[in-house]
Amino acid sequence: MHAKIAVLPGDGIGPEVTTEAVALLDVVAHLYNHQFEFETAPIGGNAIDSTGTPLPEMTLTLAKQSDGVLLGAVGGPRWDKEPAHRRPETGLLALRKGLDVFANLRPIQVFSNLVDASPLKREIVDGVDMLIVRELTGGLYFGRPRGRTEGPDGIDVVDTLQYSEREIRRILKLGFEIAEKRRRSLTSVDKANVLESSRVWREVAEAMAQDYPKVKLSHQLVDSAAMQIVRDPKRFDVVVTENLFGDILSDEAAVITGSIGLLPSASLGADGPGIYEPIHGSAPDIAGQGVANPLATMLSAAMLLRHSLGLEQEAQVVEDGVRRVLEEGARTPDLTGSSIGKADVIGTEEMAKRVREAV
Ligand code: ATP
Ligand code: MG
Repeated sequence: MHAKIAVLPGDGIGPEVTTEAVALLDVVAHLYNHQFEFETAPIGGNAIDSTGTPLPEMTLTLAKQSDGVLLGAVGGPRWDKEPAHRRPETGLLALRKGLDVFANLRPIQVFSNLVDASPLKREIVDGVDMLIVRELTGGLYFGRPRGRTEGPDGIDVVDTLQYSEREIRRILKLGFEIAEKRRRSLTSVDKANVLESSRVWREVAEAMAQDYPKVKLSHQLVDSAAMQIVRDPKRFDVVVTENLFGDILSDEAAVITGSIGLLPSASLGADGPGIYEPIHGSAPDIAGQGVANPLATMLSAAMLLRHSLGLEQEAQVVEDGVRRVLEEGARTPDLTGSSIGKADVIGTEEMAKRVREAV
């Protein structure tokens, strides 16, 4: 297959880790006889420096014309004092908006030989393999009306949790489709005992379940889900939820792995290209030292293969390669934790090279 991949390295460790993900995709292309064409463009702080804006027009155009966008990370202390429209994060938000992505996917996996990195007990996290599907464009973050007025008791403030049936339908549909390809269990998380939006969400989910007879749908209240994520995370396969709940639960689920450098993400729209990026930030404290863990970005590249290019086998080969290298004991410094001393501690380039060899 021929595919065009937009590469947006960004700031801090972004360029170090995206370089390795691109090299990995090159190996995959070679092995399976695909033609991947990579084109790089600036985003974030470096784009502000070179063009005056965090998302230059040419970057958005390139992203729109691509089959998938591979992104590093944006931001850093250098740009912290910029006004809102010139902040690196604004560029990322504009990219998401420009590509009309409405779903954020976060797989949360605990690799068996990395259970010691988790703040939770081994028996609780060993074998965790869940995926959170978070709605990105609606809910409390965007509902109208919003804002403050002066009331008799001081400031009167309103945020609105708003969804259209269309928005609920498209995110739930994605949840069902992904669940169908995994362990066929879908947990829809809401607050239906209090919120009208959650009750509509449940109705839509129940009706849609008829179309996916192989998927076992269950509903869970968000407070109870927050508890189960630390008490028994293994019970979850695919979790689908609205914007605010997903924001909170996906960060909670990420910390139970104890290794931020390992977690990928995807942001998907209806058709158009998806955005693939590690969940970690630009890590300015370690940028330029050659020690950043490249695996989250390499696993993000695997998600690009799966979700934007439909190359499931290739995606799995990459994921198996990462698992194998970790099993063999390779560790970037962020993964050493309690096993320091006996671990095989290596830098960004060596880690990436071993994955390529495993693939
Ligand atoms: P954000 O930019 O989303 O606000 P943040 O400031 O919360 O992110 P990060 O930039 O992700 O956080 O960094 C948090 C910590 O994790 C830092 O100490 C950083 O060095 C470390 N870290 C992040 N990513 C990696 C990585 N790929 N490899 C090793 N360490 C990492
Ligand atoms: Mg940061």
